[in-house]
Amino acid sequence: MAERLPLFIGGKFTHSESNETLAVHDPATQEVLSEVPFASRKEIDEAVASARSTFVTWRETPTPERARLMLRYQDLLKQHQNDIAKTLSRETGKTFADAQGDVWRGIEVVEHACNIASLMMGETVENVAGRIDTYSYTQPLGVCVGVTPFNFPAMIPLWMFPLAVACGNTFVLKPSEQDPMTPNRLTELFVEAGAPDGVLQVIHGGKEQVNALLTHPDVRAISFVGSVPVAQHVYRIGTQHLKRVQAMAGAKNHMVVMPDANKDQVINSLVGASCGAAGQRCMAISVAVFVGEAANWIPEVRDAMATVRPGAWDDDGAGYGPQITPQAKQRILGFIDAGKQEGADCLLDGSDCQVEGYPNGNWVGPTLFSNVSMDMSVYKEEIFGPVLLCAQTDSLDGAIGMINANPFGNGTSIFTSSGGAARKFQHEIEVGQVGINIPIPVPLPFFSFTGWRQSFFGDQHAYGKQAVKFYTETKTVTARWFDEAPAGGPNMTIKLC
Ligand code: NAD
Repeated sequence: MAERLPLFIGGKFTHSESNETLAVHDPATQEVLSEVPFASRKEIDEAVASARSTFVTWRETPTPERARLMLRYQDLLKQHQNDIAKTLSRETGKTFADAQGDVWRGIEVVEHACNIASLMMGETVENVAGRIDTYSYTQPLGVCVGVTPFNFPAMIPLWMFPLAVACGNTFVLKPSEQDPMTPNRLTELFVEAGAPDGVLQVIHGGKEQVNALLTHPDVRAISFVGSVPVAQHVYRIGTQHLKRVQAMAGAKNHMVVMPDANKDQVINSLVGASCGAAGQRCMAISVAVFVGEAANWIPEVRDAMATVRPGAWDDDGAGYGPQITPQAKQRILGFIDAGKQEGADCLLDGSDCQVEGYPNGNWVGPTLFSNVSMDMSVYKEEIFGPVLLCAQTDSLDGAIGMINANPFGNGTSIFTSSGGAARKFQHEIEVGQVGINIPIPVPLPFFSFTGWRQSFFGDQHAYGKQAVKFYTETKTVTARWFDEAPAGGPNMTIKLC
């Protein structure tokens, strides 16, 4: 029988009392790997209560001690990178190399959290008025919550709880119910690193569990990553309940190809960035915008995509794995059909994709459309599969206009050998993360992950300095020390003197 995953509350892995469970499948075989329980209301309350009571002591733990927990944790994650990646591959279907990358990009955030004392430093100004000094501290908020999507089950939880906890908060994580085994493994290692009981709790479940956390009176902040409609819901309900919310959402990322770009770099980048991770990345390139004669390269893009084949996680020759669920696969096939009906040219059709030895896998082959227009559903919606759309325009202005008219603003890139074109693009484009001859410009954690428009709801973004601001409050102290009794009577004005 498949293992039933525990919750993690108050420092203990506990069997959930809930009868509601979901089977976690290997997406290449449909083998049931585990069962995930949907936590009861009582268990959610216990998790928040544990986080709340632990906050009283954890916030007093010296900052260097909190940093040392992160030092031990990043070391353990590195030691266990491959076994975490194996679990991750099994439950997501990602190739082993891609799963290692998922874990690594999370480790980088934990490394960043090791520097928490510098990141939390306040500001000081001496003598703001006669013998008066002003200085500020950043202090933790209290109980913070993280809700994560299926597509990066190591990296995205690690965007959240290490920085929140390093800042002195306590945390309740609600991972995606589709791949909960990796977050549980991350939790085991956090315990092994010496995390005190109650600093981190893990509650499994779906929308009911999220809604209970969003409205819980003792939760101060919610960090969410997922699809646009759910991000909007989380932002609305969370802020209505006076929580601080950052909600990272879906995307439609364009790559502009100028005729002066290096053709081989363009083709390799388009193939890797559209099909890598089976297209299940919020920073995947899903639209290639060819400017002028660059459109002549579309047949070569097609030929290169046709050489990529999906396969099982331990198949070294596979370019990517299956879709996460049969439903996700069907949704993508629906878009491929719609693209054909709406009049786009399907140059490569991955709808009928078989992988030898894996007849039950959620396979979708690389798919390429050309002559795509902005009114087609394949262009308007996030497909989240290995489907690349080609659009054409006469000028860089046309490409910029097209991207700025799209409601999403997560990532974009330009391939060119012209500094002038690149400078114009980076300045005029209304997208939060821009690559220049880089197809997937995900910043390292000393910067923040800065999606714009419908790809983000909130003010402070994930990781980097912005996440430290998100997980803390600033306290500003204005102080005067008297050596002798002050001269004069009461100050009846607002002016410091
Ligand atoms: P999803 O929105 O279905 O689920 C995300 C989380 O929300 C899960 O934990 C899920 O249990 C919960 N949830 C689902 N429905 C809910 C509801 N009605 N109410 C409350 N909670 C609910 O997303 P997904 O399919 O797991 O992930 C893929 C999506 O995430 C894509 O749209 C992708 O672009 C986006 N994503 C964005 C980023 C980013 O940083 N911008 C990063 C990764 C993924």
